[in-house]
Amino acid sequence: MRAKIGFPATLTYYSYFPFWKAFFEELGMQVVTSNPTSKSTLDAGVRETVTDACVPIKLFHGHVMSIRDRVDFLFIPRMVSVGDKSTFCPKFLGLPEMIRYTLDRLPPLIDIRVDLMKGRGELFRVCQAIGKTLNTGWSTATRAYHKAIRKHRLYQKLLLDRYLPYQAMARLFGEDEPAPASSHHDLNLAVLGYPYQVHDNYINVNLLGILDKLGANVWTTEMVPPKLLRRHIKCLPKRLFWHYSNQVVWAAHHYLEQDFVDGIIHVTAFGCGPDAMVDKIMELDSRQRGRVPFMSLTIDEHTGQAGMLTRLEAFVDMIRLRRDTA
Ligand code: SF4
Repeated sequence: MRAKIGFPATLTYYSYFPFWKAFFEELGMQVVTSNPTSKSTLDAGVRETVTDACVPIKLFHGHVMSIRDRVDFLFIPRMVSVGDKSTFCPKFLGLPEMIRYTLDRLPPLIDIRVDLMKGRGELFRVCQAIGKTLNTGWSTATRAYHKAIRKHRLYQKLLLDRYLPYQAMARLFGEDEPAPASSHHDLNLAVLGYPYQVHDNYINVNLLGILDKLGANVWTTEMVPPKLLRRHIKCLPKRLFWHYSNQVVWAAHHYLEQDFVDGIIHVTAFGCGPDAMVDKIMELDSRQRGRVPFMSLTIDEHTGQAGMLTRLEAFVDMIRLRRDTA
């Protein structure tokens, strides 16, 4: 029987799961993910995590709890950097310890450090180190690495083609043939934030679905080609320290320059340190340019659909009114 490795379906899941799934499967393992977030996942995480942690970290605990008894290993890498001169937020850096010292009944953790700032070839070295831990041979790990790289590129391409992460994964893994996010509405809104907030339909109370019903096409950070994102590196005198925060700020700059964008929504987590700065930067930038309305949506464990719907309706109505009276 194949050994099972667990991958909690949150945090870096939306960015890198296809890579790791392809890698571990080629090593001969069965990859088990947690189910999409539900009330019980969130409640479990909130119960076990320190109160001042941000919602996404609480949620991560809940996801781990939901799979810990079903797997032989848990994959919780220490994500330091993906090589773009910024690091992940400190909570990502300490995630393996946070899980290890908070939760009991855990299978062995694979908590390899992923720090691609160390130079070219570092990801290959990381994959070889995992292979060694799992007693696979050098050539098997090499083959798995190349397969994972190919899968990751396909995933990136689908995201650029306007597939949302869950749609792109369904397409990649042959589960169904979803269509990309709709683009036939008359309104275009950039919905920016960390992928584990924007694409978790439970925690954001189906934000993207509501916007679709309100007649808005959604544009996310993942839909901006990396080359275009990098053109905005100099939009601030200094880069922010954190990887996902930079991506969001650069994407906001990108969309602010696009004439077709009617508004920007920043999805932020209650208790997020980096977002205190990111949100202000985005607000000031959009105010400076004047043309594009900006709204910030803070999500916490008590966010309800009624409140969210009211705010979104008001935002969309205001944009339409402004446009029709211009
Ligand atoms: S960036 Fe913010 S929301 Fe994400 S893990 Fe760090 S503190 Fe939490």
